Amino acid sequence: MKYVKCGGEVFELKLTPLGTNCRYCKEKEAVIKPAGISLPLCKECFLAFCEKKVKMAIEKHKMFKPEDKIGVMVSGGKDSAALLAILKKLYPEQKIYAIHLNLGIGYYSDFAEIAVKRLCEKLGVPLITYNLKEKEGFTISDFINTRFRDKICAICGTIKRYHFSRIARENGINVICTAHHLDDILSTMLSAFFQGDFIGLSRLTPVIEPLFEGQPKKVKPLCYLQEKDLFYYSVLSGLPLEPCACPHGEITTVKEWKKWVEEKSKEDPSFKFRLFSIFRKKLIPLIKKNLKEEKENFVPCGICGEPTPSKSGLCAKCRRVKLLERVKERKLEYQPEEFLKLVGDSQEKDFVVFDVKLKEDYEKESFPGAIWIDPTLLSKDDKTLLKTFKPYRKKRLFFMCYTGRTSFRFVLRLRKLGFLAYNIANPKDLLMKNEKEKLVSSPL
Ligand code: SF4
Ligand code: ZN
Repeated sequence: MKYVKCGGEVFELKLTPLGTNCRYCKEKEAVIKPAGISLPLCKECFLAFCEKKVKMAIEKHKMFKPEDKIGVMVSGGKDSAALLAILKKLYPEQKIYAIHLNLGIGYYSDFAEIAVKRLCEKLGVPLITYNLKEKEGFTISDFINTRFRDKICAICGTIKRYHFSRIARENGINVICTAHHLDDILSTMLSAFFQGDFIGLSRLTPVIEPLFEGQPKKVKPLCYLQEKDLFYYSVLSGLPLEPCACPHGEITTVKEWKKWVEEKSKEDPSFKFRLFSIFRKKLIPLIKKNLKEEKENFVPCGICGEPTPSKSGLCAKCRRVKLLERVKERKLEYQPEEFLKLVGDSQEKDFVVFDVKLKEDYEKESFPGAIWIDPTLLSKDDKTLLKTFKPYRKKRLFFMCYTGRTSFRFVLRLRKLGFLAYNIANPKDLLMKNEKEKLVSSPL
């Protein structure tokens, strides 16, 4: 089983007998070793190992009590799927709700919502969904038109945090469980440390107590598990995984730190645990001791009322959402019929259509007059993209592929570079047989 994460990282699971019996049950053949630990286990004992780690985190850090109403943030990915499954298995009597935010990121968000619904049905967990586009009138992709175009993931995090907190409050949920695992926490800690963000760092603890009454407590029950283990857990316990990577997945500083930590732990398998312990037991208490009472720094946001440390009186979420008011055109994607209407109405030929399928498929069928672009161009740097599309700087660029996924990623890259690029979703209806002699040659 292969799983492609946002940002392109690939996880793969191949179960091969390790030539020894399971170290726990001593009976079955061992097929897997948990990440960073030399402990050959059979499938059943591996699942039990992961569940034990979660239970240990919950009990050690007093994450919740039997009477608490728990909200689990589910994205459609492997980590939150594993978290929800483990919590439901360990605490079948606890009031547990899944909360999902549809971010409006084209095909990715549609896929994620289906995956979440399937997961919740399988586990018998009630699901609360919130659709940003329908309820708030904007999507995460809209921020590609603002100065935050290179920080979409950071924006996404800010928006998600706000809505999860709000949804929890409105539904009487007093504890929010997030699927941050050891790798996430360590990379965020290192990133915060090297940016000098010590307040941010001090809040990266397994439990974040609410600053104000009525706010939910936030807990990280996966803090002692590594990402690889969560992928294995999801696959081995048969959770419905829909590997679909977000097209915004970017190389962020946090991801760079994640890679660094991974490299270090290859040389020293206990590295991650030691680093976490140093941050958690030594550095964070030291920072907290020197910080002012946190509450004093906060005021309620002038728009949404959420506590904010901002001097402007508006929280980070509201300041960013306000930027969208200035964006004249947010549309990134056209349905085939909308596109045909636009093309038909267009007086001048101010648009170009690019087909980013494989060349042999483009040669068979495409949109009349579409120009073929090698899909591997997507992996090239900005300079190459700029050079390729320079002749079309003043035109509206429409992209199509097989399903509208690769083309959507082209659109996002080009929007970041200042082009007026649009995606054509579900382009099947637009295809016509291509006649070889009429093909437009690629600018590459
Ligand atoms: Fe949000 Fe970035 Fe994750 Fe996409 S990759 S869901 S934009 S955080
Ligand atoms: Zn606000």
